[in-house]
Amino acid sequence: MKEVVVISGKGGTGKTSLTSSFSFLGGKSLVIGDCDVDADDMHLLLKPDYKESKSFFSGFIAEIDSTKCLNCGICFEKCRFKAISKQEGVFKINGIDCEGCGYCKRICSADAITIKDAEVGSVYKSNIKTGAVMVHARLKPGADNSGKLVAQVKKDARDVANKFGKDLILIDGSPGIGCPVVSSLTGANYVILVTEPTPSGYHDLKRVYEVVKKFKIKAGLIINKSDLNQKIASELEKYANSESINLIGKLSYDEDFSKAITNGITAAEYQEGNIQKEVKKLWETAKKYIYTDKENI
Ligand code: SF4
Ligand code: SF4
Repeated sequence: MKEVVVISGKGGTGKTSLTSSFSFLGGKSLVIGDCDVDADDMHLLLKPDYKESKSFFSGFIAEIDSTKCLNCGICFEKCRFKAISKQEGVFKINGIDCEGCGYCKRICSADAITIKDAEVGSVYKSNIKTGAVMVHARLKPGADNSGKLVAQVKKDARDVANKFGKDLILIDGSPGIGCPVVSSLTGANYVILVTEPTPSGYHDLKRVYEVVKKFKIKAGLIINKSDLNQKIASELEKYANSESINLIGKLSYDEDFSKAITNGITAAEYQEGNIQKEVKKLWETAKKYIYTDKENI
């Protein structure tokens, strides 16, 4: 089974739109994982049915039993994270601020506080419009531990792939170089890097590829909107060559790319102009590298 992760050093490169297009083109042959759990957007284009869902728990949170609380206010005074407030005469925990340290439980003489597992998000298993299964997730506002949620999405995607005998998992990773990206890359066989020819696009690509190199995973590059700055596009190509990154292809700026998204469909479905053909060409080249190239650098 191959696990392919699409990442970009920064947001706004077209990563998710391209991953959605590849997901559409892959049809039922693949399992899709949306690991951009802080800003999951693939559902907007792939129309999942949210057939199965489960809560995701990570860390701890305090809870006050108002029937036991004596209203002494000691927990309110002592919580160093200011996670307890008094609302309409009742002490309550603010889930965003509570760190789950448990100190309030220790000092409550009425035994009114319990520390429980914190529900920080949800994981979904859906059928999308192609009939393929997509595993996706959503983190609650203010929740952390997105790296753990990414690991859960990947585990569930692997379980689905094993169950239905699928040999390819396509993952939309997070932007940046932090914990969710590291979690996205763990266990991957191939990485597709998506960037744009801007100073920040180039800078962030190099940063994220340093992370990829730590995992020794072979990578390919797509330069989106490549004609917007030919000079930087050419530097990106030279960089890819010097690092033995496969150049999967370049995509010129095309208004139809945005028009497709505005209409809630992937570029691979957009009938007008050349965008459908261009995206298909990128996917065919990417597949060639995914299935034939050596896995490690
Ligand atoms: S310390 Fe216990 S009894 Fe006092 S306000 Fe807090 S929850 Fe209520
Ligand atoms: S568990 Fe810690 S952070 Fe949360 S309310 Fe209690 S003292 Fe404050």
